[in-house]
Amino acid sequence: MFTVKNCSLAAAIMLAAPVFAAETDFDAVQITATPVAGKITMLQGNGGNIAVSLGDDGVLMVDDQFAPLSDKIKAAITKLGGSAPELLLNTHWHGDHSGGNENFADKATIIAHDNVRVRIADPANERVAAALPVITFANGLSIHFNGEEIKLIHLPHGHTDGDSAVWFTGSNVIHMGDEYVVGGFPFIDLNSGGSVEGLIDNHANILAQIPDNIRVIPGHGGLSTKAEMASWIEGVRTTAKIVTDQMIAGKTLAAIIEQGLPEQYASWGMGFINEAAYITAVYTSSANP
Ligand SMILES: [Zn+2]
Repeated sequence: MFTVKNCSLAAAIMLAAPVFAAETDFDAVQITATPVAGKITMLQGNGGNIAVSLGDDGVLMVDDQFAPLSDKIKAAITKLGGSAPELLLNTHWHGDHSGGNENFADKATIIAHDNVRVRIADPANERVAAALPVITFANGLSIHFNGEEIKLIHLPHGHTDGDSAVWFTGSNVIHMGDEYVVGGFPFIDLNSGGSVEGLIDNHANILAQIPDNIRVIPGHGGLSTKAEMASWIEGVRTTAKIVTDQMIAGKTLAAIIEQGLPEQYASWGMGFINEAAYITAVYTSSANP
């Protein structure tokens, strides 16, 4: 058993929404591998979804879940015919996506947005120096690896202020990190520079660029499509507007939570962000743009 710190715990503290059990039995976690398209396989265990590119140049990995799972993740890559990654990209700094960084750093060059390094370096987050990205970027970066251009696109002020989407242009796959979670309300990490408005703008930016038939790896949940992601962000836009309209009309946060959101979004509150926590995040985000 290990006690972990991740975005779920941060959410529980920030939003007073204790929706996360802070202890996970990592010994019991199994890593599953799902072929996505082209060179890309998705790994799932506990924490954010992982993308692995496997080819002649070696292994490039996107995100690495929690530190206690690193050996299991390496074993899963070996099973696919690869070895420890040469390149490791972090979609953002949260521990359920970057928690294993230090265990891959002896071989892998870690690459992420500037703000990922800033937050991992923050003493309050209690990370070791080996967990720090060694290559950082401000707006975007292209990596040419395993025969395709892999575009990292910074998504400012959405889930956090340091998120990137990773677009495998040849394999026709995009990893969205926690900018997109399947079947639930988004987690807007206000303490890490997140914003609901920003999240909506980021999706408009990405949806305008990617092909209709691309395969989408969300931060959490199963494989998805562009159409499903477009529908999800429309739901975010709709629910956020319901909250902000009431806020502008002078309703208190408590009254908006009491009123609630339309029944069709009830299932979105079953995940790690419940409805009250989401409404609180939208209200706070909109009140402090
Ligand atoms: Zn996250």
